[in-house]
Amino acid sequence: MGMIGFYSKKDNREYDLKFFIENYRNYKNDAYCMGCRKPRVIGVFNVINRIPHIRKEPRILHRQGCPLKNKRISIKFFQEIKKSPENTERIKQLLVGVFNDNFLPNRENDEFDIINDNTIFEVFSLQNKTEHQVRYYLPRKKISMNKKYIDDELRIFYGEITINSYTKYDKDQKVVLRTNRDSNIPNILIPLNLFFKLKVKESYNIVFIGSNVHFNHGVYLEIKDINFCKIEKI
Ligand SMILES: [Zn+2]
Repeated sequence: MGMIGFYSKKDNREYDLKFFIENYRNYKNDAYCMGCRKPRVIGVFNVINRIPHIRKEPRILHRQGCPLKNKRISIKFFQEIKKSPENTERIKQLLVGVFNDNFLPNRENDEFDIINDNTIFEVFSLQNKTEHQVRYYLPRKKISMNKKYIDDELRIFYGEITINSYTKYDKDQKVVLRTNRDSNIPNILIPLNLFFKLKVKESYNIVFIGSNVHFNHGVYLEIKDINFCKIEKI
């Protein structure tokens, strides 16, 4: 499960995580996937428990058939997850980790590099129907109007929002939040049951699982489910 070490091309051998942490400066440019030796791997901190681990560098893919390949969570699979209390709990925990990672002060910095925000992929294990642990991932993305992300894939979004106004669509049980026009924050579509917890003109730190959706002639960033949203008033 996951990556317990890396492959060094220079030395033509594998090393474990402990070695990676202790020799990070010397090997960070010579660390590759142990399964297929193609993508580079990097050192990162687990967002929930701050334990260092090894993760694939996001831009380069594994070779086909690599045993260490993770699966991206699709919208259809996300609906499945919600039926399992264990998996729901695990993802909620992940969101709390992302929240703490971004909004809590005094984070320690260690020997691992700070990774560019856009390259963070949250990887986690879930139980599937056949009782096996499968590794999945979701990209983490700061909320913005960045056109690159106008697709309907799920992501973990996070950021600061200020609610300027809203429109309620009672029939659909949804509300469009209009955020500050001067900022880069898109308008957000939320479930009605979340709306009751929020107030206009207030600002919030928020982390949620969402995607872009077409709704009522507009494109919005949608918070999929109140259970997969952590929000706190600033
Ligand atoms: Zn691989």
